[in-house]
Amino acid sequence: MAKSKYEYVKQFELEDTLLPSTWIVVRIDGRGFHGFSDRHHLTKPNDIRALELMNKAAESVMFKTPDIVLAYGQSDEYSFVLRKNSRLFERRSSKISSTIVSLFTSNYVWHWSQFLPDEPLQYPPSFDARCVCYPSDQILRDYLAWRQVDCHINNMYNTVFWAIVHGGRSETEAENELRGTSSAQKQEILFSQYGINYAKEPEMFKKGSVILRQPTTVSVVSEKTGQPVMREKMIPTISFVDMIKDEFWIQRPYLLG
Ligand code: ATP
Ligand code: ATP
Ligand code: MG
Ligand code: MG
Ligand code: MG
Ligand code: MG
Ligand code: MG
Repeated sequence: MAKSKYEYVKQFELEDTLLPSTWIVVRIDGRGFHGFSDRHHLTKPNDIRALELMNKAAESVMFKTPDIVLAYGQSDEYSFVLRKNSRLFERRSSKISSTIVSLFTSNYVWHWSQFLPDEPLQYPPSFDARCVCYPSDQILRDYLAWRQVDCHINNMYNTVFWAIVHGGRSETEAENELRGTSSAQKQEILFSQYGINYAKEPEMFKKGSVILRQPTTVSVVSEKTGQPVMREKMIPTISFVDMIKDEFWIQRPYLLG
């Protein structure tokens, strides 16, 4: 194609290629979801419908992006881990993050009414995204542990906080009561004052959601016969497992391999 005199403007596009042979993590996070969750009457601290919608959107991203080996979600955020030697978009950062976040967001909106049928969407939600490279397996593990510990700490705090508020006290009173308390003290308040055993809270709330590709027998249409046949495929599957302990990685050597 003939080049126009305007072609030179292309030079202003800076390179944003990500370091080769490093884990790429794309983390997306809901914009202003504090307000979004109020506006849509999400139950506090954990609206299970909204969490399952996040999981559905993340699963859809994984179906469309084979290079994602693992995804981890909690609250209004999701992290997508791309394999070290991924060549997706020639490892261009903005291409990768923008494609993943837009796919995530469109799926979030697309599936909204299925997960929250009684709660019409009041405005179009948005998410931000960034790509970060992690140069070693250990640092990738530490990244995932960081997010999972964050989930644990926030969830414990929020569970007690909302128990106090739902018990009839103000948010300020709840904050004051919890200031400086240890994890053990929070669990004690929960149990003795509200009869809630933290250990029995849903695993999804305590650990967040991990999506891995698992061999699964599914029905597919045969190319030869046009008839449905059963095949084993690697299907994104959600679980609420601990990624901090060594056990998770020892049991799944193929993840880092
Ligand atoms: P920012 O735009 O800076 O990310 P934010 O308001 O989204 O601001 P976050 O730190 O991302 O702030 O926190 C997410 C907020 O959304 C928290 O207030 C959290 O309680 C709420 N939230 C997210 N998911 C749920 C859910 N499933 N149920 C109830 N509340 C939720
Ligand atoms: P990539 O994913 O690399 O961007 P692409 O298929 O989207 O691939 P583009 O170079 O972005 O390719 O071109 C956009 C394509 O969409 C063109 O083929 C264009 O003709 C078509 N298209 C976009 N908008 C319209 C429209 N309003 N009506 C008809 N065709 C359109
Ligand atoms: Mg934030
Ligand atoms: Mg947010
Ligand atoms: Mg967040
Ligand atoms: Mg185009
Ligand atoms: Mg295009």
